[in-house]
Amino acid sequence: MDPDTTESQSGSPPQPDRGFDLESRLEARQRHGLRRELEPAADVSARTRIGGESQLVFAANNYLGLATDSRVQQAAASAAHAVGTGSGASRLITGDTELHRELEGDLAAIKHTDRTLLFSSGYAANVGTIAALDPDVIFSDELNHASIIDGCRLSDAETVVYDHCDAESLATELHTRAETAADDEQWLIATDTVFSMDGDVAPLAAICDLAERYGAWVLVDEAHATGLYENGGGLVQREGLSDRIDVQIGTLSKALASQGGYVAGSETLIEYLVNEARSFVFSTGLAPPAVGASKAALRIARDGECRKSLWENVETLRDGLESMGYRVLGETQVLPVLVGDRADAIALDERLREQGIVAPVIRPPTVPDGTSRIRVAPMATHTEANIDRCLTAFETVGTNLELI
Ligand code: PMP
Repeated sequence: MDPDTTESQSGSPPQPDRGFDLESRLEARQRHGLRRELEPAADVSARTRIGGESQLVFAANNYLGLATDSRVQQAAASAAHAVGTGSGASRLITGDTELHRELEGDLAAIKHTDRTLLFSSGYAANVGTIAALDPDVIFSDELNHASIIDGCRLSDAETVVYDHCDAESLATELHTRAETAADDEQWLIATDTVFSMDGDVAPLAAICDLAERYGAWVLVDEAHATGLYENGGGLVQREGLSDRIDVQIGTLSKALASQGGYVAGSETLIEYLVNEARSFVFSTGLAPPAVGASKAALRIARDGECRKSLWENVETLRDGLESMGYRVLGETQVLPVLVGDRADAIALDERLREQGIVAPVIRPPTVPDGTSRIRVAPMATHTEANIDRCLTAFETVGTNLELI
């Protein structure tokens, strides 16, 4: 008999339980080693206290260390005083201020585009833009960030996933699809520029060549590149491809030291998004302190001193780790130290932590089996002594665990 219709002893039908058994869902996560926990730090500096212990942090995306730079902090405070702590409404109602326009202008200059538009996060920028473009087909790198993946889902487009950073795989997919496609189909190729778990970069010029051959648009996510390359721009600017990429998306939450996302592109693209991107239209304008902070951070990133320190730290760490016998993937500021075995990588992460170094383990399902790694993300504000301590810890722990 259907339990929902069973009569109880009192004669009244029992209430069906239509609630959510979250305890068992969490327990399942725990059993599979996928349960995550929050762990507050005292602040977001390169050296901070976590769980009462002093730690050197090699795990943040605050790559230039500007989130605790006094000039950026001052700019956030001034914006709060001059404009307010929150925007109070969507930009299309009363949440639009001169400060928002100023940052959008600065970002457009750095990204070499007509205009930019601020969103409440990089996530909202990706999801809102892809859905608003409403493509018929999206060609998406297999390791794209979750916000691109969610944008693809929300847009209802047919999504074709091509092999990671593989222009040949993309060419094959475009060719195959073109054989049966109607001429009026609208196609989007979407890729991160710097991949945050592998530290590698998309073959942007080859992607632009293919897009032009097949008449598709290109959308890139510069989240882990913005602020770090030419004049504070991203990888697109380093490669000189600003004119060939239709949509450049990024975040203010990493090198630009605050919170929020942006889309850079043509006047028409931005005007369209102002009208059609639901995560822009129906969300409160970015908080003025975040806007003020990123405006100051962008100016500092453009001047270049902190970028130089970051890249020096990256080089010292990469060289040091490689000379110990570690294999370091990628070619950017993200240094994934390949360990392979999941248990070894977890042990390395734990022992580093005991030595006062926070550098998180990245393991399946985030990365494929056999490719577990430690993600080391240096910051411009790590001192020479900090970098030395990190290297010493890797050497001691790696030797003890017989990894090197
Ligand atoms: N894109 C990429 C590649 C990211 O790594 C992230 C953040 N982890 C985002 C987008 C989302 O940006 P935000 O944190 O500003 O929402």
